[in-house]
Amino acid sequence: MNIKMNLFVMTLAAALAGPIGFLGTDALAAGPQGGRGVRVQPLNADEAATLTFMREEEKMARDVYLNMAARWAQLPFANIAKSEQQHMDAIKAKLDRYGLPDPALAGIGAFRDTELQVLYDGLTDRGETAYLEALWVGGLIEEVDIEDLDNAIAATSHPDLAQVYGNLLRGSRNHLRAFASAIERQGVVYQAQHLDQETVDAIIDSPMERGK
Ligand code: ZN
Ligand code: ZN
Repeated sequence: MNIKMNLFVMTLAAALAGPIGFLGTDALAAGPQGGRGVRVQPLNADEAATLTFMREEEKMARDVYLNMAARWAQLPFANIAKSEQQHMDAIKAKLDRYGLPDPALAGIGAFRDTELQVLYDGLTDRGETAYLEALWVGGLIEEVDIEDLDNAIAATSHPDLAQVYGNLLRGSRNHLRAFASAIERQGVVYQAQHLDQETVDAIIDSPMERGK
């Protein structure tokens, strides 16, 4: 074998060994979507932590809205709770694909992440005081979700994750529009609660997008 051929073989071997070595057995054995023998480029620790957190963040939104739907029996809580279930499902499909465990507890209002537990408890308490307060809670949840999804998109190198986060982001902007217009129907002007006012105004002054 000449030197050129040797280099070629070494490069090829490195190229093959790189991704396979990095993958590990978990990713190779990844769930039904991945399928046996289909290689899934694994997530780095930050991407995995973000995906795991997003699953519970979507659950937090769903559980607050289910609670508000039961308390107030007024739009838009029940509809948006259904949409949050779809967001949870979309994240769960990605956890499965990347061979990551599901953090979501079965109970409504129960969270593994203590920060989300504290948020849930405080937001439901606040939302139970008045329908208008519940709408403000909805707006706040969506503003935080929008920021977290934007950051998640910026921090992933996986196009399939960016796509899912992008779908959820469109849904979240629509939810923010729905809460803001419900607040404005009560004769109150919607004020930004977490994002800056300019960003919020650009969202709520633009039409609904495709996607829930
Ligand atoms: Zn959502
Ligand atoms: Zn939402």
